[in-house]
Amino acid sequence: MKKIKFTNLRLPVNPTQISELRVEEGRFVEVFSNDDITPIEMNLGGNLVLPGLIETHIHLDKACIMDRCQLQEGTLQEAVTSTSAAKIGFTEADVYQRGARIIEQAITQGTTYMRTHVELDPGIGLTSFRAILQLQRDYAWAMGMEICVFPQEGLLNNPGTEELLCEALESGATILGGCPYMDDDPAGQIQRLFELAVQYDCDLDLHLDFDLSPEGMTVPEVVRCTLAHGWQHRVTIGHVTKLSALPPEQLRQTAMALAEAGVQVTALPSTDLFLTGREATHNVPRGVAPLSKLHACGVTCSLSTNNIGNPFTPFGDASLIRQANLLANVCHLGTSAELACCLAWVSEEAAKMIRLPDYGLSPGCHADFIVLDVDTPAAVIAELGQPLMAFKRGRQSFERKPAQLLKPV
Ligand SMILES: [Zn+2]
Repeated sequence: MKKIKFTNLRLPVNPTQISELRVEEGRFVEVFSNDDITPIEMNLGGNLVLPGLIETHIHLDKACIMDRCQLQEGTLQEAVTSTSAAKIGFTEADVYQRGARIIEQAITQGTTYMRTHVELDPGIGLTSFRAILQLQRDYAWAMGMEICVFPQEGLLNNPGTEELLCEALESGATILGGCPYMDDDPAGQIQRLFELAVQYDCDLDLHLDFDLSPEGMTVPEVVRCTLAHGWQHRVTIGHVTKLSALPPEQLRQTAMALAEAGVQVTALPSTDLFLTGREATHNVPRGVAPLSKLHACGVTCSLSTNNIGNPFTPFGDASLIRQANLLANVCHLGTSAELACCLAWVSEEAAKMIRLPDYGLSPGCHADFIVLDVDTPAAVIAELGQPLMAFKRGRQSFERKPAQLLKPV
């Protein structure tokens, strides 16, 4: 399948006009090269085409374990403890099987690329990491995947963890993650992670500030280290739920500092809503990082799934469109421009955040795209559009038949 001409489709730049796309050797081209091969033609039924969706933050290794966990308090502490206990029973085959289930779901939800976080500590060793490496190879036909290894159970407090992170970074992991709130010295963990990131020349993606007190933010330390090491646009912080607790002027100043340092923010609405605000008996706070306000100050943002079927988030279907709709609901985003932003946070902005090259629908970009029966990009989020098909490097990876009403005749 060398050359394909996709006809009868609509593009996000002008969704009322019927267009065409040409794909050769897995990339979009303006015109086909001049040889004897006749292009295959594929009619996309007048549907909307978007670049494939990007999951910037998902935990495949601890997905689908609710049947092994106790859920009583619904707190972050319980989620960490309960998952840690379940992890003792993880095997490579078990992690592979649960991860494959989520990847296959994500493919049918229009995701074509994901950054997956993998926990490393002396208890689990490299067991989960090895399974994720195998998944990365086995699903490359439909899902690009990059691996971020991180110390969920602490780095400075947990001897042996750093050696495992280094071993993984030398054998296939390309991103280093962190969890500063798990160490007695959060700033110390942040500093050590930056030193390792420079040593391995890798980007950083940290779980940060997971509560709703405006006090004790570690964002300033991340900003300081980013500038000190020249790591601008290579550092992402996830959750950062404290941002939702800041008064407007303090939030603006923090957002400006993040933008100037090129520190990027990922909101994980499902987990953040589930785990925060538990102490409130009424007027429960929302606890989701205010992406639109950060975006207005120039911060690169994304939103992502994080967890599915574990004590951090007991539910999920790997749909980024549903996550974007959830964030739109929670953060009062409803205009066409705001909804288009929500879509960008799982597509163009997400690609920019993880520095994914050749992303989009322009000539030269990888032909990773999805097809939806929806009028406009904003409507994809507002109406929870369901992808009908996806293509990876120009090859179709799944198909969903549109629902058909069976009216009485
Ligand atoms: Zn996470």
